[in-house]
Amino acid sequence: MNIIILGPQGCGKGTQAEMLAEKFNLVHIEMGSALRKQAAEDTPLGKKLDEIVNRKRELVSDDIVADVIREEAKRIPADKGIILDGAPRKMSQIDEAEDTFKENGRKLEKVIFVKISESESVNRISKRCACSKCGKGFILGKDPVNLKGICPECGGKIIRRKDDTPDGVKKRLEIFNRETIPVLDYYRNKGLLMEINGEKNINNVFEDIVNKLKRKK
Ligand SMILES: [Zn+2]
Repeated sequence: MNIIILGPQGCGKGTQAEMLAEKFNLVHIEMGSALRKQAAEDTPLGKKLDEIVNRKRELVSDDIVADVIREEAKRIPADKGIILDGAPRKMSQIDEAEDTFKENGRKLEKVIFVKISESESVNRISKRCACSKCGKGFILGKDPVNLKGICPECGGKIIRRKDDTPDGVKKRLEIFNRETIPVLDYYRNKGLLMEINGEKNINNVFEDIVNKLKRKK
């Protein structure tokens, strides 16, 4: 099975992608962590990424996003499926994201859209914080470790991302609506889109996805 999973900030697609990867024996490619991981590698692509992501702190271009996905896909055994999380996030990334599947003889079967409302997205993201050292995420009021403000994994300080404010979230939602909604429309027209209500609890969302995946097979 080869799947793309997309959705606005805070929709929980990362968690769902991990659960799906485990259930269906897929490799989860998450763009943010793939970028960070490859930026730390001593390769020509790694050096280029380090320059853009860590030094200049700029957004990476479509070409580089494609290189990163291709590199990740190359490392996956041919008999394993992929769940691609967070790409393509705009129309100009579609061809190259799909080429990556094709290059390895894989076929994109479904695109999952985890939908939540704008107010839910703002609400969830404003409660989010993360470890400044290892990057692990936490939810305020939910994970008790936050009371101490120390990461249980590595002892780093837990902080809130500067742009995880209602205004920051709204700005990113605008970009999602402008750039990613057309991608979802494109897959809807191809009959590949699966829309999922992301406002239920994690297990119910997962159940919905699994049921829909089974039905369409
Ligand atoms: Zn940590």
